[in-house]
Amino acid sequence: MRKKSFLSYEAKLIIAILAVLLLIFLPIPLYDNIIEIKNDLFLFYEKNISHYPIWLQILPFILILSLVIAIKLIKKNRSKYVEDNFYNIKWTWDWHKNDITNLQCYCPICDEPLYYDDTTSKFTIEVSKIDFICDKCQKVMGSIANENNKLNSSQLVKKEIQRQIYRKLTQDKNLTK
Ligand SMILES: [Zn+2]
Repeated sequence: MRKKSFLSYEAKLIIAILAVLLLIFLPIPLYDNIIEIKNDLFLFYEKNISHYPIWLQILPFILILSLVIAIKLIKKNRSKYVEDNFYNIKWTWDWHKNDITNLQCYCPICDEPLYYDDTTSKFTIEVSKIDFICDKCQKVMGSIANENNKLNSSQLVKKEIQRQIYRKLTQDKNLTK
């Protein structure tokens, strides 16, 4: 069940306008408050942080900064990795954040898009493999074994190639360590 909002938008708007008017016309010492907060922060620093050596004070900022840079670099590397060979077939894809999209397969010889054939599934309950065929070369260029017959062919292909891509990514990461 949807909860009813406590206040309607109109009521919130009126309260916001009233609050702004109060802030402007009531003699609230806003500036003094800011100075007080600043003094409090400074006191907190003096009391708790300033006795540590300066490199230890800066360390958290450097750690956060290097983490951000590392994440950016990994993302950049990942977005450059959009092509590879698996099962003797050339695969291309796009990155959408961490997801692989627009997965395509091409003939390693003539670069023609391949189509896949799983017609055996019509005659047997289990599909043992999916063949990738090049029309131009008139040849099966590669096959992917189908061990999971719960998935349909395109799901299985996508899952299998994604697995290969992620495996390669983690391998590369381990190599650069
Ligand atoms: Zn071909």
